[in-house]
Amino acid sequence: MLRVVISIQVFLAFFALQASGQVKIRLFAAKPLHWIVFNVNEGSYRLDFYDDAPIYLKKGDNAIVSFYNGKVAVKTKGDSGFTCDSMVFTGQTGQDLFSVRVGNEPATGRIYDGDLQCIHDLGFLVLINTCNIDRYIAGVVQAEGGTGKNIEYIKSQALIARTYMYRYLNKHIIDGYNLCDGTHCQAYMGNSQDPAINRAVLETTGLVVLGRDSLPIMSAFHSNCGGETESSENVWLSGQPYLKKVVDPYCTGSRNAKWTKSITVKEWKDYLRNSGFTTPEAGKPDLNFSQITRQKDYRTGSFSLPFTKIRDDFNLKSSFFSVVQSGDSMIFRGKGYGHGVGLCQEGAMVMAAQGKNYRQILQFYYSNIIISDIRNAKNPAQ
Ligand SMILES: [Zn+2]
Ligand SMILES: [Zn+2]
Repeated sequence: MLRVVISIQVFLAFFALQASGQVKIRLFAAKPLHWIVFNVNEGSYRLDFYDDAPIYLKKGDNAIVSFYNGKVAVKTKGDSGFTCDSMVFTGQTGQDLFSVRVGNEPATGRIYDGDLQCIHDLGFLVLINTCNIDRYIAGVVQAEGGTGKNIEYIKSQALIARTYMYRYLNKHIIDGYNLCDGTHCQAYMGNSQDPAINRAVLETTGLVVLGRDSLPIMSAFHSNCGGETESSENVWLSGQPYLKKVVDPYCTGSRNAKWTKSITVKEWKDYLRNSGFTTPEAGKPDLNFSQITRQKDYRTGSFSLPFTKIRDDFNLKSSFFSVVQSGDSMIFRGKGYGHGVGLCQEGAMVMAAQGKNYRQILQFYYSNIIISDIRNAKNPAQ
């Protein structure tokens, strides 16, 4: 028997989301999904049909969902199965948790809350999780920053993740969800089981970082700035008044504060030549360059090249480095790890360890910001 499931496409607008406290996240977005096993870990789930009584799944029950003959096919224990274009596992108790196994891959151990909608696109399954915002934020903090850090540092990360979520709430709205769970948006690997992270999120619930225009800021962060953060206009096309250079005394003793890499002098000369540099006829060109503070471009004679480009081309940890010739080698002596814009995570950890709170940490790295409830923000979707 083939049955048809009710398709529910609910568009959650910005303010509706705030009221409901929910957000739609696409799960396993980077994976081509052929079939999955949906498993109930807590509570119970309901599947609705047009023409029949709903099916209930209790704790321990599962359902196989696959893409089959251009449709989403669902098979539960004791049911003959059905196909549809869209179906939803709807939580029944408010405490409902589920897990997903992808095909024959081993279980990930990830636990998700809320509902799961299964649709199809371009021949693959698409999983959309409508989940609690605080649980989502805690999951992002865990996935992006790890566990075992000072609570005030974790709170700063919670505000960064929440600010990002509200700023980019419409990033995937055309596809029927808000954000994906990959690094394209923010990494999300299910609920966090870390009590400190969950506490940090609940104690800051609703708080975001706003610019002077009352919009959620572009909450950029990186691992280590090397002692000086970078203004956004030197890395990306647009400048932001809150992403300005800050001298950071906190991170210079941390793990990623320094790095070196060496290449041959020939490699360096070839690279410069391929980038448009011509050797002067008289005398030896000076290939060295020293960055005491951050500079935008490497310069020798009238030739210049952005450090961000050199960083990309040589896969360097940062664009904050000096170039020194030593015999047949060119040595890059670098500071920091990452693009250097916004909050420096290793510096923020040191600030927290020295007794600074999350507000002081955020105010230090982001210029001219307001820390406020999202209800005081302008709607970025407008
Ligand atoms: Zn995305
Ligand atoms: Zn730093």
